[in-house]
Amino acid sequence: MNELSLSWEPRWVRVRLKFAGTEIVTCKDLSTNLLVCPLCVDIDKLCPEGKETNITVDNIYTFYTLEDLVNHMVTHGSPKFVKVIKSVKEFGKKGGSS
Ligand SMILES: [Zn+2]
Repeated sequence: MNELSLSWEPRWVRVRLKFAGTEIVTCKDLSTNLLVCPLCVDIDKLCPEGKETNITVDNIYTFYTLEDLVNHMVTHGSPKFVKVIKSVKEFGKKGGSS
């Protein structure tokens, strides 16, 4: 889906995002607004603290929304994110009709 690697010059910056009370530190591309998975990618190389890079990385997962990213991070089996997703699902239940 996201095979744009050659025609696209990324501008990676470090971002801190809050999701269900959990802070996620990862890299975001300012050109496309895509997020990367900090568990798949070495974010210290891709977006060192306080520095913008234009490193092109092949075969990485990228995400348009924080929710998609968190859903992916759960597949790594990180207990922290499994917990986050659970709490988000709880949220959903409260407003839902099922
Ligand atoms: Zn990942």
